[in-house]
Order: sequence, then structure tokens, then C-alpha cells
Amino acid sequence: MGKWLYKRIKYLLSSLLEIIYTEDRVCFICESHIEEAFPICDNCNSYLPYLDKSVLEYNTILKNTYSIFEFQGKIKEMVYGLKYNKEVDKAKIIGDIMARFIEKEDISIDIIIPIPMHRDKLLERGYNHSLLIAKRIGSVTGIPVETSLEKVKNTPNQVLLSGEERWYNVRGSLKCNTLYKNKNILLIDDVVTTCATAHFAALEIGEDNNVSLLSFATTKKF
Ligand SMILES: [Zn+2]
Repeated sequence: MGKWLYKRIKYLLSSLLEIIYTEDRVCFICESHIEEAFPICDNCNSYLPYLDKSVLEYNTILKNTYSIFEFQGKIKEMVYGLKYNKEVDKAKIIGDIMARFIEKEDISIDIIIPIPMHRDKLLERGYNHSLLIAKRIGSVTGIPVETSLEKVKNTPNQVLLSGEERWYNVRGSLKCNTLYKNKNILLIDDVVTTCATAHFAALEIGEDNNVSLLSFATTKKF
């Protein structure tokens, strides 16, 4: 009887814990149970297209340009889901991965600023995906997130443009509404291609600061 009762209580407790911890406790790819708060199991994580070198070479005024993945496979699916399919929960997963990267690389940051979206595009999509990602990073790391960058000019989608056109496209399209001095600022974006947007964002923030970019993935080929 005692053994039976012990088993019942143990079962009830584990069921209760499962209910409490179900959210955030499965790998987002294979849905297997995971112990850590990190959203991917070790096995799936080993198959993701991590870049060999996370600091990218661009000719910009940015202090550093970091990226974590090649823009392909599961990573591409995740970003597309978030941007074009209203899968806003993907921002949490992406944010958790980026937060872990920041902690692992020990990047010194005072303020996180997401790459902004023009209000017309915001009305269309309903949310700025980069802000959602930045907010998640902020809540995991405790680093303040500020929306001080504004997209004042609605520019055509960068995807349709060549490398050089992208630079002309975004020039003068961003404004910073806060005066920063001696700050380590990390810009957050989903995918980096030419780095033009982040370059002009850094110009607006001003050279009295160290501005870097962290993007989840890159389309740049190495
Ligand atoms: Zn998995």
C-alpha cells in the first residue's frame, strides 16, 4: 500500500511539473524533451548551419558585425515564419539563441537597439520582428532595449535590389531620436546581407559611440 501511494504521488507530482514546465521545455525542431531553457536539443543544435567565424568582414563604420548562422534550412524557415507568416513565437526562440551568443562571446553592451521598420510596413505586418527579437534578448540578458532609431523613409524591399542599389536605397532613411555618448550599442537585425542599413544606423547614432551589429543570420558567402 505504502509503495502504491508513493508511486501515485510521484506520478501526480511529475504530471504537475510537466504541466508547469511544458512551455519552453521541448526542442523547437524535433520536439523532444529538453532540460535547459535553451530552445534546441544538443542533437538538433549540432546540425544547425553555424558560421565558422561569427565576426563578419564588412567595410563599414561599425565596430563589429556579428552573425550566428548561414541563412539556410531551418534558420531560413524560422525567419520566414516570423516575418511573413505571423509566427511571432519564433522571436522568442531566435532571441534566446542570440542572447546565448552574446553571453558566450562576452560582448560588452550598454543598449540594444532593433533595426526599425517604417510605419507603413509596420501597419502591413502588425509588428516589427527585430523589435520582438530585441525585447526577448533584453528580457533574457537584462540589457535595456531602446527604440531610438526610426525609419523615416519607406524604402523598397532590399531583397529585390543589387548590392550597390541597397546602399543608395537606405541612405538617409533612418533617424536616431536620442543623443548617445560613449555607449556600447548593439543593433539587432534578423538577416544581414550588405550591412548597409546598420552602417547608416551607426552614422545616425554618432561616432561618439561604439556601434556593432548582431544579426541572426547572413546571406554573405564566404
Ligand atoms: Zn531537437
